[in-house]
Amino acid sequence: MFADKLGELLQENLLRFVRDREAPPGRAADLSRIFIDGNELINFASNDYLGLAGHSTLTRAAREAMETFGFGSGASRLLAGGTSLHGELERAVASFKGTESALVFNSGYAANTGALPSLAEEGDTLFSDELNHASIIDGCRLSRAKTVIYRHRDPDHLAELLEREGGRRNVVVTDTVFSMDGDIAPLGDIYTVCARYNARAGASSVLLYIDDAHGTGVLGDGKGALSHFGIGPEPWILQMGTFSKALGSFGAFIAAERDTVQWLLNTARGFIYSTALPAAVIAASMAALQTVREEPLRVKKLWENRARLHEGLQAEEFDTLQSETPILPIVMETSGEALRFAEQLGKHRIYAPAIRPPTVAQPRIRLTVTAAHTFEDIDALLGALASIRKGRRV
Ligand SMILES: *Cc1c(COP(=O)(O)O)cnc(C)c1O
Repeated sequence: MFADKLGELLQENLLRFVRDREAPPGRAADLSRIFIDGNELINFASNDYLGLAGHSTLTRAAREAMETFGFGSGASRLLAGGTSLHGELERAVASFKGTESALVFNSGYAANTGALPSLAEEGDTLFSDELNHASIIDGCRLSRAKTVIYRHRDPDHLAELLEREGGRRNVVVTDTVFSMDGDIAPLGDIYTVCARYNARAGASSVLLYIDDAHGTGVLGDGKGALSHFGIGPEPWILQMGTFSKALGSFGAFIAAERDTVQWLLNTARGFIYSTALPAAVIAASMAALQTVREEPLRVKKLWENRARLHEGLQAEEFDTLQSETPILPIVMETSGEALRFAEQLGKHRIYAPAIRPPTVAQPRIRLTVTAAHTFEDIDALLGALASIRKGRRV
């Protein structure tokens, strides 16, 4: 039935496929390495920024929780699916993010698609950066509010649109770190635009909803984007974040004022109508949060690695767009070129995926460097990139 459509995708170099990793031979998983078709490759495709996904602290916590609570959670949180660990994790997140309260969601996707329709209802307006994550786009689509798109990282355009299109209640939503470009939202200026509007139009006419999926554990000594910008929590700011990236676990959270969290608990469909995360997952997230607090050297190592890779790419004059983070895109002319580049990297034992439309407008290789990489890993990547490009010029 879909053979023609699949054929078209193949023709355009846009067909997607999964490449699942194999079990590592004889040692615990470390996501800085990936095993595919019997080969070991250096993995520059994971969002495991702090090297926690395979860490024994997390697996031990998960095992203990599983032995205590069993594996499956059995029901949604509002029925009987939660455990004492769920509440404990929410209190830990609130304390980590400096908010009154927090709510755990099953994934970042569920948080964004669940919360945005609850926060902006009919008659309200959502203001969304044009490069926001797909889960935000889908959350906006599910909301009955009007959605207004502002130019990427442009607070002046946002201010102008707020004046022109602002409704009864307005929700400004932005990624903190853009997941495909690795650039950072100008949160200081966005904060100012929202604060000014609220001062004039009355408190919480504007809510600011930040998606800190790639900022949590990475920016602001690990505390996230608000901390990076020196912005304190406000009753009108909601901080969404995930446990699935730097925290090496799974699931997501929204940290905010108590009433806002209660509202989400009562209305966010992605929270209400989905089985609660297993206690083992919650326990691993808790262990990860604690590790981030107790081991600041991981964040430091992440940024040292990022600096080495970025400097190497600059020296070779690769175009990495406006990246300021461990996400480093290498822009390609076409999807075909990106696919071939990724394949050649594989021959050099480097794993880095080609990212193509519709995920991004401009095809690219997306590199993510983590604290688990060594300088030798990074130098091997830089060597491979240089040699592939040299091969193409002749
Ligand atoms: C990964 C990501 C999500 C989705 O989080 P999951 O937990 O993987 O569902 C949401 N927003 C952004 C910006 C992301 O990068």
